[in-house]
Amino acid sequence: DSQISDGESNERTWPRQNSLSNREWDIPFDELKIGDKIGKGHFGTVYRGNWHGDVAIKVLDMSYLDNEKTLEQFKQEVAIFRKTRHENLVLFMGACMKPPRLAIVTSMCKGMSLYTHLHLRKDKFNMNRTAAVAAQITQGMGYLHARGIIHKDLKSKNVFIESQNGKIIITDFGLFSVTKLCQGNRKGDSLSIPPGWLCYLAPELIKCLKPVSKHDNELPFAKTTDIYAFGTVWYELLTGEWPYKGLPAESIIWQVGSGIRQPLPTLFSRDVKDILMSCWSTRPEERVDFTKIQKIVEKLPKKRLARSPSHPIHLSRSAES
Ligand code: ATP
Repeated sequence: DSQISDGESNERTWPRQNSLSNREWDIPFDELKIGDKIGKGHFGTVYRGNWHGDVAIKVLDMSYLDNEKTLEQFKQEVAIFRKTRHENLVLFMGACMKPPRLAIVTSMCKGMSLYTHLHLRKDKFNMNRTAAVAAQITQGMGYLHARGIIHKDLKSKNVFIESQNGKIIITDFGLFSVTKLCQGNRKGDSLSIPPGWLCYLAPELIKCLKPVSKHDNELPFAKTTDIYAFGTVWYELLTGEWPYKGLPAESIIWQVGSGIRQPLPTLFSRDVKDILMSCWSTRPEERVDFTKIQKIVEKLPKKRLARSPSHPIHLSRSAES
């Protein structure tokens, strides 16, 4: 089908000026050396691989791409992905776009995800490290927003910390949004919600989760919903936990919808709490943008050093970073 394939016959006639053309980013699947499986997500499996160097290869599960429309959407998402260049964003290297073999090839993140650090290894981050991590996340996210790209799935699993230099790398932006996850997980008129996902969703998204007609699957993601999700990552960084931990989905939905937010322990300073409350504001327009958050966060460690001796330990949760 010439509409959905980058078939050989189109090779010379494909207009190069077409901004949605993914031609130059197409990688023939056979050129990839696929190595060990790293893990499986909701839309596919990620493998260690080689393509002119170490890469991560996300092979997509075709059951989510069962029609032309979704395939076209995938190509458009790839077109957005390929335009990103920032040191805190995973490097897009190319994609295999010939069904049934669809894959996204990115640089390999050398290090662990923030999720692994905080929730599996239970690493404790002191305030300096917390601020350094947050500053880099806001930098990468600020760039995406400046380019008009909404991440849609910012969470600690999609943030890597490079082991060598502590550099933050954000992954999975704009691709295979949770919108499709809802569609895939929908059974009859009920919705199965993956654990650990709800706490990143702004109230205005949560309110749209109720079963809807099959074609109306778009959740109203916006820059402000990314900022809400950052608030949750900020909470995780500060406490090493998820907000609303252990509560059933219904209860989280009710609390978020009613404007009840998980409070931070009292030991945190006003500035630290203000960031959280602003990101988690019920009104999207009150959420402060990433450029502003970055400025506030970058001042935090210095502020702490400048504190009077009566407060000093308050911002430091733990001795180890
Ligand atoms: P979800 O599908 O809900 O987003 P997930 O984030 O676990 O879940 P994937 O993004 O498919 O799913 O990732 C699967 C595994 O591969 C995870 O363990 C993730 O840390 C790892 N991974 C993904 N991208 C890279 C990368 N560029 N470098 C190294 N590891 C990666």
